[in-house]
Amino acid sequence: MMRTGLGYDLHRLQAGRPLMLGGIRIPHPAGLLGHSDGDALVHALIDAILGAMGEGDIGRLFPDTDPRWRGARSLDLLGDVCRRLKAKKMRLVHADAVVIAEKPKLGPHFEAMKDALCPALGLERDGLGLKAKTNEGLGLIGRGRAIACWAVVLVEGRARPTSRPRP
Ligand SMILES: [Zn+2]
Repeated sequence: MMRTGLGYDLHRLQAGRPLMLGGIRIPHPAGLLGHSDGDALVHALIDAILGAMGEGDIGRLFPDTDPRWRGARSLDLLGDVCRRLKAKKMRLVHADAVVIAEKPKLGPHFEAMKDALCPALGLERDGLGLKAKTNEGLGLIGRGRAIACWAVVLVEGRARPTSRPRP
C-alpha cells in the first residue's frame, strides 16, 4: 500500500537569530523564529510524514506549550517521527520539497542539507528532492520577513488487510 503526505510550514525571520534550515545552519543576518529552532523545511517534512501515517501534525506531537520542545533541534524531532514510521512498518520511499525564500540563496546549501536530512529520513541522496523559489519580491516572504516550505512524501506500508467481500 502506498500513501502520500503533504506538509507546509512558514516561520518569520528575526534579525540576530541563527538561521537553521534543512538541518543545517546557514550564514544569514536573520534566523527563523520558533519555539524550536524554527527549521521550516524539517517541519514541513515532519508534517508530510505524519500526514502519510494519518497521525495529525507536528503541533499535536510536539506542542509548543510543552517546555520539553523549547529550543528543540528539529532534526531530532524528524528522527523521532521516522522511528514512529518504522514502528508502524512503513517506509519512506521519496520526499520532495520546495523552499520559498527571497534570501539567502539556498542552492549552494542543498548538498549540506542532504548530508543532514538523508540519514535522518533513511533515504539515498536521490530520494530527496530540494528546490528553492523566491516570492518575486511579493508579500512577507518577498520582503525577506519569512520563509515558507512545502514538502510531499511517498510512503510504502504493509498491505492493507483485504476489505469486506463485495456483496
Ligand atoms: Zn514550524
